[in-house]
Amino acid sequence: MPLSSRDCIDLESTYGASNYHPLPVVISRAEGAWVFDPEGRKYLDCLAAYSALNQGYGHPKILAAVREQLGTGVTLTSRAFYNDKLGLFLKRICRIAGFEKALPMNTGAEAVETAIKLARKHAVKVRGIPEGQAEILVFSGNFHGRTTTIVGFSDEPQYREGFGPFTPGFRLVPYGDAEAVRQALGPRTAAVLIEPIQGEAGIIIPPRGYLREVAAACRQSGALLVLDEIQSGLGRTGKMFAYEHEGIRPDVLILAKAISGGILPVSVVLADEAVMSVFRPGDHGSTYGGNPLGAAAALAALDVLVEERLCERAAELGDYLRQGLSAIPSPHVKEVRGVGLWIGVEIHGSSGRARPFSERLLAEGVLCKETHDQVIRFAPPLVVTKEDLDFLLQKARRVLTA
Ligand SMILES: *Cc1c(COP(=O)(O)O)cnc(C)c1O
Repeated sequence: MPLSSRDCIDLESTYGASNYHPLPVVISRAEGAWVFDPEGRKYLDCLAAYSALNQGYGHPKILAAVREQLGTGVTLTSRAFYNDKLGLFLKRICRIAGFEKALPMNTGAEAVETAIKLARKHAVKVRGIPEGQAEILVFSGNFHGRTTTIVGFSDEPQYREGFGPFTPGFRLVPYGDAEAVRQALGPRTAAVLIEPIQGEAGIIIPPRGYLREVAAACRQSGALLVLDEIQSGLGRTGKMFAYEHEGIRPDVLILAKAISGGILPVSVVLADEAVMSVFRPGDHGSTYGGNPLGAAAALAALDVLVEERLCERAAELGDYLRQGLSAIPSPHVKEVRGVGLWIGVEIHGSSGRARPFSERLLAEGVLCKETHDQVIRFAPPLVVTKEDLDFLLQKARRVLTA
Protein backbone atom coordinates (compact mmCIF):
# COMPACT_ATOMS: atom_id res chain seq x y z
CA MET A 1 0.00 0.00 0.00
CA PRO A 2 1.36 3.45 -0.81
CA LEU A 3 2.33 5.61 2.14
CA SER A 4 -0.11 8.29 3.26
CA SER A 5 1.00 11.86 3.90
CA ARG A 6 0.79 11.14 7.63
CA ASP A 7 3.06 8.08 7.23
CA CYS A 8 5.68 10.06 5.30
CA ILE A 9 5.70 12.92 7.78
CA ASP A 10 5.97 10.50 10.70
CA LEU A 11 8.89 8.66 9.08
CA GLU A 12 10.82 11.84 8.35
CA SER A 13 10.13 13.20 11.81
CA THR A 14 11.10 9.96 13.55
CA TYR A 15 14.28 9.14 11.64
CA GLY A 16 15.40 12.49 10.28
CA ALA A 17 17.47 15.06 12.13
CA SER A 18 15.23 18.01 12.90
CA ASN A 19 17.31 20.64 11.10
CA TYR A 20 14.26 21.70 9.05
CA HIS A 21 10.70 22.72 9.92
CA PRO A 22 8.77 21.79 6.74
CA LEU A 23 5.19 22.73 6.03
CA PRO A 24 3.04 19.62 6.54
CA VAL A 25 2.66 18.64 2.90
CA VAL A 26 4.09 15.58 1.14
CA ILE A 27 4.88 15.76 -2.57
CA SER A 28 4.64 12.41 -4.32
CA ARG A 29 3.98 13.42 -7.93
CA ALA A 30 4.54 16.62 -9.89
CA GLU A 31 4.28 18.18 -13.32
CA GLY A 32 5.26 21.67 -14.43
CA ALA A 33 4.35 24.07 -11.64
CA TRP A 34 1.90 21.70 -9.93
CA VAL A 35 2.50 19.05 -7.30
CA PHE A 36 0.29 16.33 -5.83
CA ASP A 37 0.25 14.63 -2.45
CA PRO A 38 -0.36 10.89 -1.89
CA GLU A 39 -4.08 11.57 -1.33
CA GLY A 40 -4.28 13.27 -4.73
CA ARG A 41 -4.61 16.85 -3.48
CA LYS A 42 -3.15 19.38 -5.88
CA TYR A 43 -0.97 22.41 -5.06
CA LEU A 44 0.62 25.22 -7.05
CA ASP A 45 4.30 25.29 -6.10
CA CYS A 46 5.39 28.89 -5.51
CA LEU A 47 8.78 28.02 -4.02
CA ALA A 48 10.26 25.91 -6.84
CA ALA A 49 12.85 24.44 -4.44
CA TYR A 50 14.32 27.89 -3.81
CA SER A 51 14.54 28.50 -7.57
CA ALA A 52 16.18 25.19 -8.47
CA LEU A 53 13.06 24.20 -10.42
CA ASN A 54 12.88 27.20 -12.76
CA GLN A 55 12.17 24.82 -15.67
CA GLY A 56 9.34 23.15 -13.69
CA TYR A 57 8.94 19.57 -12.50
CA GLY A 58 9.49 16.68 -14.88
CA HIS A 59 10.33 18.72 -17.96
CA PRO A 60 10.14 16.14 -20.80
CA LYS A 61 13.27 17.40 -22.54
CA ILE A 62 15.39 17.27 -19.40
CA LEU A 63 14.00 13.89 -18.37
CA ALA A 64 14.73 12.49 -21.84
CA ALA A 65 18.34 13.69 -21.68
CA VAL A 66 18.79 12.13 -18.25
CA ARG A 67 17.17 8.85 -19.34
CA GLU A 68 19.41 8.72 -22.38
CA GLN A 69 22.50 9.28 -20.24
CA LEU A 70 21.35 6.63 -17.75
CA GLY A 71 20.99 4.26 -20.71
CA THR A 72 24.68 4.57 -21.51
CA GLY A 73 25.57 3.31 -18.05
CA VAL A 74 27.91 6.29 -17.63
CA THR A 75 26.74 8.28 -14.64
CA LEU A 76 30.01 8.97 -12.88
CA THR A 77 33.57 8.80 -14.12
CA SER A 78 35.26 11.01 -11.53
CA ARG A 79 37.67 13.58 -12.91
CA ALA A 80 40.41 10.98 -13.02
CA PHE A 81 39.12 10.38 -16.56
CA TYR A 82 37.33 12.41 -19.21
CA ASN A 83 33.72 11.85 -20.13
CA ASP A 84 31.76 12.75 -23.25
CA LYS A 85 29.26 15.15 -21.60
CA LEU A 86 31.22 17.43 -19.29
CA GLY A 87 33.02 19.38 -22.01
CA LEU A 88 29.76 20.10 -23.82
CA PHE A 89 28.18 21.38 -20.61
CA LEU A 90 31.18 23.58 -19.76
CA LYS A 91 31.18 25.05 -23.27
CA ARG A 92 27.44 25.76 -23.09
CA ILE A 93 27.56 27.52 -19.72
CA CYS A 94 30.69 29.48 -20.70
CA ARG A 95 28.91 30.68 -23.86
CA ILE A 96 25.71 31.60 -22.04
CA ALA A 97 27.48 33.51 -19.27
CA GLY A 98 30.29 34.91 -21.42
CA PHE A 99 33.28 33.51 -19.54
CA GLU A 100 36.32 31.57 -20.73
CA LYS A 101 36.44 28.89 -18.05
CA ALA A 102 34.13 26.96 -15.75
CA LEU A 103 34.78 24.74 -12.75
CA PRO A 104 32.00 22.26 -11.93
CA MET A 105 30.99 21.24 -8.41
CA ASN A 106 27.72 19.92 -6.97
CA THR A 107 26.02 22.07 -4.34
CA GLY A 108 25.84 25.82 -4.16
CA ALA A 109 27.86 25.96 -0.96
CA GLU A 110 30.66 23.96 -2.60
CA ALA A 111 30.77 26.42 -5.48
CA VAL A 112 30.94 29.33 -3.01
CA GLU A 113 33.81 27.58 -1.21
CA THR A 114 35.47 27.11 -4.60
CA ALA A 115 35.12 30.81 -5.39
CA ILE A 116 36.62 31.71 -2.00
CA LYS A 117 39.63 29.47 -2.66
CA LEU A 118 39.96 30.91 -6.16
CA ALA A 119 39.86 34.51 -4.90
CA ARG A 120 42.40 33.81 -2.18
CA LYS A 121 44.84 32.03 -4.47
CA HIS A 122 44.44 34.78 -7.06
CA ALA A 123 45.23 37.33 -4.36
CA VAL A 124 48.44 35.52 -3.45
CA LYS A 125 49.65 34.43 -6.89
CA VAL A 126 48.57 37.34 -9.08
CA ARG A 127 48.30 40.34 -6.76
CA GLY A 128 51.10 39.45 -4.34
CA ILE A 129 49.01 39.71 -1.20
CA PRO A 130 50.95 37.86 1.52
CA GLU A 131 49.81 34.28 2.11
CA GLY A 132 47.19 34.09 4.85
CA GLN A 133 46.36 37.80 4.77
CA ALA A 134 43.84 38.11 1.97
CA GLU A 135 40.48 39.48 3.07
CA ILE A 136 37.07 38.97 1.46
CA LEU A 137 34.29 41.50 1.93
CA VAL A 138 30.85 40.03 2.60
CA PHE A 139 27.53 41.68 3.40
CA SER A 140 25.00 42.05 6.17
CA GLY A 141 22.12 39.66 5.54
CA ASN A 142 24.23 37.43 3.27
CA PHE A 143 23.31 33.84 2.52
CA HIS A 144 25.87 31.71 0.73
CA GLY A 145 25.26 28.23 2.16
CA ARG A 146 25.84 26.20 5.30
CA THR A 147 29.46 25.05 5.50
CA THR A 148 31.45 26.10 8.55
CA THR A 149 33.46 28.68 6.60
CA ILE A 150 30.35 30.18 5.04
CA VAL A 151 28.21 30.36 8.19
CA GLY A 152 31.23 31.87 9.91
CA PHE A 153 30.70 35.11 7.99
CA SER A 154 26.91 35.15 8.24
CA ASP A 155 25.35 37.75 10.53
CA GLU A 156 22.33 35.54 11.22
CA PRO A 157 22.89 34.38 14.82
CA GLN A 158 21.15 31.01 14.36
CA TYR A 159 23.35 30.07 11.40
CA ARG A 160 26.45 30.51 13.59
CA GLU A 161 25.49 29.71 17.15
CA GLY A 162 27.40 26.71 18.48
CA PHE A 163 29.33 26.08 15.26
CA GLY A 164 32.56 27.97 15.88
CA PRO A 165 35.50 28.38 15.70
CA PHE A 166 35.21 29.97 12.26
CA THR A 167 37.52 30.68 9.33
CA PRO A 168 39.08 34.15 9.54
CA GLY A 169 39.57 36.50 6.60
CA PHE A 170 36.06 37.87 6.06
CA ARG A 171 34.74 41.33 6.80
CA LEU A 172 31.07 42.28 6.97
CA VAL A 173 29.92 45.43 5.19
CA PRO A 174 26.36 46.83 5.24
CA TYR A 175 24.40 45.69 2.16
CA GLY A 176 23.19 48.41 -0.21
CA ASP A 177 25.77 51.05 0.78
CA ALA A 178 28.37 51.58 -1.96
CA GLU A 179 30.35 54.07 0.10
CA ALA A 180 30.82 51.43 2.81
CA VAL A 181 32.35 49.12 0.19
CA ARG A 182 34.73 51.84 -1.04
CA GLN A 183 35.80 52.47 2.56
CA ALA A 184 36.31 48.80 3.34
CA LEU A 185 38.34 47.98 0.21
CA GLY A 186 42.05 47.91 0.96
CA PRO A 187 45.29 46.58 -0.52
CA ARG A 188 44.62 43.16 1.03
CA THR A 189 41.04 42.82 -0.19
CA ALA A 190 41.05 39.75 -2.43
CA ALA A 191 37.40 39.89 -3.38
CA VAL A 192 33.93 41.20 -2.75
CA LEU A 193 31.43 38.34 -2.44
CA ILE A 194 27.88 39.52 -2.97
CA GLU A 195 24.35 38.52 -3.98
CA PRO A 196 22.89 40.96 -6.55
CA ILE A 197 19.57 40.57 -4.73
CA GLN A 198 19.45 38.91 -1.31
CA GLY A 199 16.95 36.06 -1.52
CA GLU A 200 17.13 34.39 1.87
CA ALA A 201 17.31 37.74 3.64
CA GLY A 202 13.80 38.44 2.31
CA ILE A 203 14.24 39.47 -1.35
CA ILE A 204 16.24 42.57 -0.50
CA ILE A 205 16.81 44.70 -3.62
CA PRO A 206 19.68 47.18 -3.27
CA PRO A 207 19.34 50.75 -4.62
CA ARG A 208 19.60 51.17 -8.39
CA GLY A 209 23.22 51.70 -9.42
CA TYR A 210 24.60 50.03 -6.29
CA LEU A 211 26.05 47.00 -8.03
CA ARG A 212 27.57 49.22 -10.72
CA GLU A 213 29.32 51.28 -8.03
CA VAL A 214 30.54 48.16 -6.25
CA ALA A 215 31.88 46.82 -9.56
CA ALA A 216 33.67 50.10 -10.27
CA ALA A 217 35.19 50.18 -6.79
CA CYS A 218 36.43 46.59 -7.23
CA ARG A 219 37.98 47.42 -10.59
CA GLN A 220 39.78 50.37 -9.08
CA SER A 221 41.18 48.41 -6.14
CA GLY A 222 42.00 45.19 -8.01
CA ALA A 223 39.66 43.09 -5.85
CA LEU A 224 37.64 40.46 -7.69
CA LEU A 225 33.89 40.98 -7.90
CA VAL A 226 32.42 37.57 -7.06
CA LEU A 227 28.68 37.33 -7.65
CA ASP A 228 26.61 34.62 -6.02
CA GLU A 229 23.78 34.16 -8.52
CA ILE A 230 22.83 30.74 -7.21
CA GLN A 231 19.26 31.91 -6.57
CA SER A 232 19.04 35.09 -8.65
CA GLY A 233 20.58 33.66 -11.82
CA LEU A 234 19.22 31.61 -14.71
CA GLY A 235 16.08 33.55 -15.47
CA ARG A 236 14.52 34.17 -12.08
CA THR A 237 14.69 37.99 -12.27
CA GLY A 238 13.61 38.28 -15.90
CA LYS A 239 17.19 38.27 -17.22
CA MET A 240 19.53 35.31 -17.53
CA PHE A 241 21.61 36.89 -14.72
CA ALA A 242 20.54 39.56 -12.26
CA TYR A 243 23.73 41.56 -12.88
CA GLU A 244 22.48 42.30 -16.42
CA HIS A 245 19.95 44.70 -14.87
CA GLU A 246 22.95 46.84 -13.87
CA GLY A 247 24.95 46.44 -17.07
CA ILE A 248 28.02 45.07 -15.29
CA ARG A 249 30.06 41.89 -15.55
CA PRO A 250 31.53 40.14 -12.52
CA ASP A 251 35.03 38.65 -12.40
CA VAL A 252 33.71 35.44 -10.91
CA LEU A 253 30.17 34.08 -11.22
CA ILE A 254 28.70 31.34 -9.03
CA LEU A 255 25.72 29.31 -10.29
CA ALA A 256 23.85 26.27 -8.98
CA LYS A 257 20.20 25.42 -8.30
CA ALA A 258 18.37 25.83 -11.64
CA ILE A 259 21.43 24.94 -13.71
CA SER A 260 20.26 21.30 -13.69
CA GLY A 261 16.56 22.15 -13.53
CA GLY A 262 16.15 20.47 -10.16
CA ILE A 263 17.35 17.05 -11.32
CA LEU A 264 20.72 16.73 -9.62
CA PRO A 265 23.01 18.98 -7.63
CA VAL A 266 25.14 20.75 -10.22
CA SER A 267 27.02 23.97 -9.52
CA VAL A 268 29.67 25.89 -11.36
CA VAL A 269 32.16 28.71 -10.85
CA LEU A 270 32.90 30.83 -13.92
CA ALA A 271 35.82 33.16 -14.56
CA ASP A 272 38.20 34.13 -17.32
CA GLU A 273 41.48 32.29 -17.85
CA ALA A 274 43.52 35.05 -16.17
CA VAL A 275 41.76 34.28 -12.89
CA MET A 276 40.93 30.59 -13.23
CA SER A 277 44.49 29.67 -14.23
CA VAL A 278 45.63 29.99 -10.62
CA PHE A 279 44.12 26.53 -10.08
CA ARG A 280 46.62 23.79 -10.90
CA PRO A 281 45.97 20.03 -11.02
CA GLY A 282 45.51 18.84 -7.45
CA ASP A 283 44.50 22.24 -6.03
CA HIS A 284 40.80 21.49 -5.81
CA GLY A 285 38.24 18.88 -6.72
CA SER A 286 35.12 16.86 -6.07
CA THR A 287 34.33 13.21 -6.81
CA TYR A 288 30.90 13.93 -8.26
CA GLY A 289 31.75 17.41 -9.56
CA GLY A 290 31.37 17.39 -13.34
CA ASN A 291 29.67 14.00 -13.44
CA PRO A 292 28.22 13.11 -16.87
CA LEU A 293 24.68 12.55 -15.59
CA GLY A 294 24.58 16.02 -14.03
CA ALA A 295 26.22 17.47 -17.14
CA ALA A 296 23.57 15.86 -19.38
CA ALA A 297 20.80 17.24 -17.15
CA ALA A 298 22.38 20.70 -17.10
CA LEU A 299 22.86 20.79 -20.87
CA ALA A 300 19.15 20.07 -21.38
CA ALA A 301 18.07 22.40 -18.56
CA LEU A 302 20.03 25.29 -20.08
CA ASP A 303 18.51 24.54 -23.51
CA VAL A 304 15.05 24.74 -21.98
CA LEU A 305 15.78 28.13 -20.38
CA VAL A 306 16.86 29.54 -23.74
CA GLU A 307 14.43 27.77 -26.11
CA GLU A 308 11.36 28.45 -24.00
CA ARG A 309 12.40 32.06 -23.41
CA LEU A 310 11.95 31.61 -19.69
CA CYS A 311 13.75 34.88 -18.88
CA GLU A 312 11.24 36.90 -20.90
CA ARG A 313 8.46 34.87 -19.38
CA ALA A 314 9.70 35.63 -15.85
CA ALA A 315 9.81 39.35 -16.67
CA GLU A 316 6.28 39.46 -18.10
CA LEU A 317 4.57 37.15 -15.63
CA GLY A 318 6.54 38.69 -12.77
CA ASP A 319 5.11 42.12 -13.55
CA TYR A 320 1.64 40.63 -13.71
CA LEU A 321 2.02 38.85 -10.37
CA ARG A 322 3.60 41.83 -8.61
CA GLN A 323 0.84 44.14 -9.79
CA GLY A 324 -1.79 41.62 -8.77
CA LEU A 325 -0.33 41.17 -5.30
CA SER A 326 0.10 44.93 -4.85
CA ALA A 327 -3.57 45.45 -5.71
CA ILE A 328 -4.78 43.26 -2.83
CA PRO A 329 -6.20 45.60 -0.18
CA SER A 330 -4.68 43.90 2.86
CA PRO A 331 -4.22 45.34 6.35
CA HIS A 332 -1.41 42.81 6.86
CA VAL A 333 0.88 43.69 3.96
CA LYS A 334 3.67 46.17 4.59
CA GLU A 335 5.32 45.90 1.18
CA VAL A 336 5.26 43.91 -2.05
CA ARG A 337 8.67 43.88 -3.73
CA GLY A 338 10.51 41.83 -6.28
CA VAL A 339 12.09 41.46 -9.68
CA GLY A 340 10.82 39.01 -12.27
CA LEU A 341 9.11 35.98 -10.78
CA TRP A 342 10.77 36.54 -7.42
CA ILE A 343 8.40 38.42 -5.19
CA GLY A 344 8.40 39.00 -1.46
CA VAL A 345 5.31 40.04 0.46
CA GLU A 346 6.37 41.55 3.76
CA ILE A 347 3.88 41.16 6.60
CA HIS A 348 3.46 43.92 9.22
CA GLY A 349 4.91 42.99 12.60
CA SER A 350 1.52 43.81 14.12
CA SER A 351 -0.08 41.07 11.99
CA GLY A 352 2.22 38.41 13.42
CA ARG A 353 4.71 36.34 11.49
CA ALA A 354 4.60 35.14 7.90
CA ARG A 355 4.47 31.43 8.81
CA PRO A 356 0.70 31.29 9.58
CA PHE A 357 0.06 32.94 6.19
CA SER A 358 2.13 30.21 4.48
CA GLU A 359 0.09 27.62 6.39
CA ARG A 360 -3.20 29.18 5.28
CA LEU A 361 -1.98 29.34 1.68
CA LEU A 362 -1.10 25.66 1.92
CA ALA A 363 -4.66 24.89 3.00
CA GLU A 364 -5.81 26.82 -0.10
CA GLY A 365 -3.56 24.79 -2.42
CA VAL A 366 -0.59 27.15 -2.73
CA LEU A 367 2.89 26.14 -1.57
CA CYS A 368 5.20 28.88 -0.45
CA LYS A 369 7.66 29.38 2.34
CA GLU A 370 8.25 32.30 4.62
CA THR A 371 11.76 33.65 4.83
CA HIS A 372 13.12 35.49 7.85
CA ASP A 373 9.88 35.64 9.87
CA GLN A 374 8.08 38.46 8.04
CA VAL A 375 8.35 37.76 4.32
CA ILE A 376 6.33 35.36 2.18
CA ARG A 377 8.32 34.49 -0.92
CA PHE A 378 6.57 33.77 -4.22
CA ALA A 379 8.96 32.19 -6.72
CA PRO A 380 7.05 29.68 -8.85
CA PRO A 381 8.69 27.68 -11.65
CA LEU A 382 9.14 29.99 -14.65
CA VAL A 383 6.93 27.68 -16.74
CA VAL A 384 3.93 28.79 -14.64
CA THR A 385 1.01 30.14 -16.69
CA LYS A 386 -1.03 33.32 -16.34
CA GLU A 387 -4.01 31.16 -15.34
CA ASP A 388 -1.90 29.57 -12.59
CA LEU A 389 -1.01 33.04 -11.34
CA ASP A 390 -4.69 34.00 -11.34
CA PHE A 391 -5.30 30.99 -9.11
CA LEU A 392 -2.49 32.17 -6.83
CA LEU A 393 -3.83 35.74 -6.75
CA GLN A 394 -7.32 34.54 -5.86
CA LYS A 395 -5.94 32.45 -2.98
CA ALA A 396 -3.54 35.17 -1.83
CA ARG A 397 -6.42 37.65 -1.78
CA ARG A 398 -8.49 35.32 0.37
CA VAL A 399 -5.64 34.71 2.85
CA LEU A 400 -4.31 38.27 3.01
CA THR A 401 -7.69 39.96 3.44
CA ALA A 402 -9.05 37.53 6.05
C1 LIG B 1 20.81 28.14 -2.06
C2 LIG B 1 21.90 29.15 -2.04
C3 LIG B 1 23.22 28.78 -1.72
C4 LIG B 1 23.60 27.39 -1.25
O1 LIG B 1 23.31 26.40 -2.15
P1 LIG B 1 23.21 24.87 -1.64
O2 LIG B 1 23.06 24.08 -2.89
O3 LIG B 1 22.03 24.78 -0.73
O4 LIG B 1 24.49 24.59 -0.92
C5 LIG B 1 24.19 29.76 -1.79
N1 LIG B 1 23.89 31.03 -2.15
C6 LIG B 1 22.64 31.40 -2.45
C7 LIG B 1 22.38 32.82 -2.85
C8 LIG B 1 21.60 30.49 -2.38
O5 LIG B 1 20.36 30.88 -2.66
